[in-house]
Amino acid sequence: MDCVSTRGAGPVSLAKALAEGLASDGGLYVFPLDARPAVTLGTTLAETAATLLEPLFIGEPLDARELCEAAFTFDAPLLPIDEDSSLLELFHGPTAAFKDFGARFLAEALSRLGLPPTTILVATSGDTGAAVAAAFHRRPGFRVVILYPDGRVSARQAHQLGAFGDNVRTFKVRGSFDDCQRMVKEAFTDRALVDKHGLSSANSISLGRLLPQMAYYAHAALVMQQRGAAPVDFVVPTGNLGNALACLMAKRLGLPVGHVFLATNANRVLPDFLASGAYEPRHSLATLANAMDVGAPSNLERLRYWWRDVDELRREVSADWVDDESIRRTIGTTWRATRTAICPHTACGVAVRDRMRAKGHARPLVIAATAHPAKFETVVEPIIGEAVEPPEALARLLKRPSVAKPLEPTIEALKGAMG
Ligand SMILES: *Cc1c(COP(=O)(O)O)cnc(C)c1O
Repeated sequence: MDCVSTRGAGPVSLAKALAEGLASDGGLYVFPLDARPAVTLGTTLAETAATLLEPLFIGEPLDARELCEAAFTFDAPLLPIDEDSSLLELFHGPTAAFKDFGARFLAEALSRLGLPPTTILVATSGDTGAAVAAAFHRRPGFRVVILYPDGRVSARQAHQLGAFGDNVRTFKVRGSFDDCQRMVKEAFTDRALVDKHGLSSANSISLGRLLPQMAYYAHAALVMQQRGAAPVDFVVPTGNLGNALACLMAKRLGLPVGHVFLATNANRVLPDFLASGAYEPRHSLATLANAMDVGAPSNLERLRYWWRDVDELRREVSADWVDDESIRRTIGTTWRATRTAICPHTACGVAVRDRMRAKGHARPLVIAATAHPAKFETVVEPIIGEAVEPPEALARLLKRPSVAKPLEPTIEALKGAMG
């Protein structure tokens, strides 16, 4: 499949786009969303994913089915929370957030491409870094460098980020996630640095993460279709716009996805963009849903490439934002109504669901549950008044020692630290 950059470079093969991450002109790789894969609902997510992705990998030196089977070793079940809303639980992977799907798929793809020694440089708002570290941990030929904003991730997230060791190095940056993301982007425009370290990206700017994220939306939409609810509307907690974009891409590829509601936290760049048609990046604000503390969502460049007309976009997508107080309240109301603990990000989605219902939206809704609540226990436990047990894999990581070095938020500091 041919891929081009949002800024014009290319075309390149999908394999090359996966290996490079960011295009050489600083743009993001995209491809025509006009394939109509004959997606069939499998008994596992891996089976459904293979039928979705195989057509995109025709002519590539990678076997999509093999990648799906290796990466998707856990499912994304639907948990009903009332008569017509379900949570799509995306946190059953090794680091308990949806980032595991993309990170594991990307790792499987890159390790099959026979690359020269590669350093995966990743900026994380909390969950990506751990997912990428877990996916590449002890993989021969790969090194991982993680940048996270010091003090802006939960204690368990921070512990997890520094708990890998071996081929993974973790830096806590004195700045925001946007600073971390800017440092990564700057690193990629420095040809000498890229060549020296064999730099590759694993942020949601990488197609290798977006493609597999379409799979669980495809699977869930087909399950809902089987239950007579097609097309089904989705609510997606959104920061950098990778997860929600994957949902929209699945829709364009012909899956029975209806309207997509983006739920942001107080970083309301996307709701404001949809309202005004003008994109105004801002400094990110720290919120309880920290993995969505993004003031300049990088995937917006892809969204605007594929949906050039804002009016057309508005017919398919809405966006609303949720403040910390509503996040807390929604964690509490959801717990009392259903005995389901939800993380602060998922709570943004459920809060938007509540608003849609109040406005008369009656069709079934699927809300992406993006992380396990145990990753945010300091927020969730005081609200629900009970302990949230970490899933087994997370518990194992939390028992290991954790190391992160401080780093100034500049490209010079990063260069120095990488050696
Ligand atoms: C990364 C993340 C998000 C935001 O996803 P994007 O793809 O950046 O929009 C939401 N919730 C959790 C738990 C995350 O880790």
